[in-house]
Parts: sequence; C-alpha cells; structure tokens
Amino acid sequence: MCIFCGKDPKDKNLEHVIPEWLISLTGNPNRIADFSCNLDKDRKFAFDQFRFPSCKECNEKFSDIESNTRETVLAILDGKKVEELESLLLWFDKVRIGLWLAFYTLDKNYWGIEPKFYITERLSRSDRGLFIYKSSSPKGINFFGVSNNPLFNLMPSCFGLRINEYYFLNFSTDYLFSKRLGLPHPGKMFVLDNKKNKVEVNLNKGKEKVLLPVIKRNFTSSCIELYQPIINKNLATTDRQEFYSSAYVKKYFDERKCAGKIVIVKDNNFFFEGDKDFSLSVKEQKSTKAFIDCFDKEIRSINNKILSNLPSLSKLSKNERNEVREVRKLFRELNKK
Ligand SMILES: [Zn+2]
Repeated sequence: MCIFCGKDPKDKNLEHVIPEWLISLTGNPNRIADFSCNLDKDRKFAFDQFRFPSCKECNEKFSDIESNTRETVLAILDGKKVEELESLLLWFDKVRIGLWLAFYTLDKNYWGIEPKFYITERLSRSDRGLFIYKSSSPKGINFFGVSNNPLFNLMPSCFGLRINEYYFLNFSTDYLFSKRLGLPHPGKMFVLDNKKNKVEVNLNKGKEKVLLPVIKRNFTSSCIELYQPIINKNLATTDRQEFYSSAYVKKYFDERKCAGKIVIVKDNNFFFEGDKDFSLSVKEQKSTKAFIDCFDKEIRSINNKILSNLPSLSKLSKNERNEVREVRKLFRELNKK
C-alpha cells in the first residue's frame, strides 16, 4: 500500500519516512538506528532501510516540500533568516503520519487497528503547531513520544523530533487554539457518529486578538512557538461565512484555503509570518538530561490537552457514549505510562 494515498502503489517507489537529506545531515547515512519500542526489544537496522512503498506520482508531489524544508532546517541550524514556514509545518504533518504508518507496519498491527487515514488526507487538516528548542547535544536524530508512548499508535497527534541540537515538538488537532488566536472557534463540538467520524461544530465569534500564552507550556522554558489555524473541512459547520467575514478574520485567515497566517511567539511577544524578518534562533538550554525529561513531559501534557479538546459525547446513545468514554480513558492512561 502507498504510504501517501493508501492505494496499490502505481509505478512503485520507496519513500523514506526520514528523508535522505536529514539522515546525512545528522550523521553517517549508513549508520544503524534503533527503532525498538516496548513491544519489540531488538529492532535495529540501517537508517536507509526505513522506507515504505509509495506511488511514483505521490512521492514526487512532495519533492518541493522536501527541498523547501531542507532550506528551512539548515537556516534554523545556522541561526539564519527563515524564508517561509508553511512547508515546514506541512513537512511535520507528513513525518508524523509517516512515522505512525511505519510503526503500524513494523509492529505488524499489534493494536489491531485499521488505518483510517494515509499521509495525503491528513496533511493540513487541523490546527497545527510547532515548538522549537535548542539544547547542547551531539549530532543525531531521535523521535520522542513515538515508540515510548503507546498512545501514539492510536492517536498520532503529537510527537518530538531531535535534529542535532534542535528539538521540535509538533502537534495537530481540530480547533486546538483558534480561540486563543482570536478566530472563530467551536462553542461546542459533538460527536454525531463515532464510526463515521461525524462531528458537529457550533461556531462562536472570536475575540479578534491573539491571547498569550496561545498554549500554556507546563514543563519547558525558552522556545519559539509556531501556530497555524486550519479548519477541518470534513467537519459539518453551521453557516461559516458570517463568522469569517470580519476585517480581522479576513486579514489573518484565508477562508477559501481553510488556513490562517502563521503566528510566531518568541520571548513573550507574537507576530505574524510576513510582518517582519526573523530567525528561529533559540536560547540554548543547559542540561540535556533534565531538558529531555521536560521535553517528554511536555509532549504528554500536549497530548492531554488534545484529549481534553475532543468533541462532546452527549449526542450519542448511552451505549455508544460509554464505549467511546472507555476508549478515551484508555488513551489517557496510555499517555501516563
Ligand atoms: Zn499513492
């Protein structure tokens, strides 16, 4: 199956979940990497082998995103001016879902789940954010909140990635922070049909200003935060137009694209992408071990936020409601481990 579209691959190609440019940037491309997790203790193979089938066409669609992201990552690592951020956020969506599908394949479907989505349909689907940190570390790459957090297998909404000295915490879920960005947001969301993923959204007007913190960080200190609001087109919304027609919303949100301008938060200030030149250089954190501990806790804390932001179950039948409640309870418990 193609990792992008989920169909039988046309003109079969192999897609590196972690692209070759990133493997080379972080060490010897032929090195052996450890993909073990608690399900399978010994799972070591060459980084270069971490690749999965895809259609030639699907794969090629992403080549621009890969080259733009490479530029951006190099600029971040060198503390230089960054040209544009949307590719980077898109790329993190791609890697997060790619990792999820990869572990699903490697774990031989240990959790007995049916993948409901592939990369393409999960890209740019919901509000998404990225926190960027720096902490003295040797060259290398690591994932966080993936193999050491069983929740990721069931809800791949948040993960961490280290690229040399930089640590990235990426997350995405419906309407996680539209309200804090002053945009229209759900007063309430209801699950209407759990199996078909049908959700009703009742919109409220926004406050038309950015409120800090957009998301409260509980465990980590200095970092740069990026936020992009996105409407999930699959959700049934009450007539959207009236909420998206004010001057503020029009300025910061492209209703046709269902996506807003990226907000950058740095040193307790915010600005919108395009308003000024900026670098993504971050204050370096001292102790790596203590930092990693906090980083891991932050991932779990964001997962909890995502779980508490899920739509209400009050419109489901009693039986269905109890069923979903149990699943959510399990999610919260898995995230604690
Ligand atoms: Zn495909």
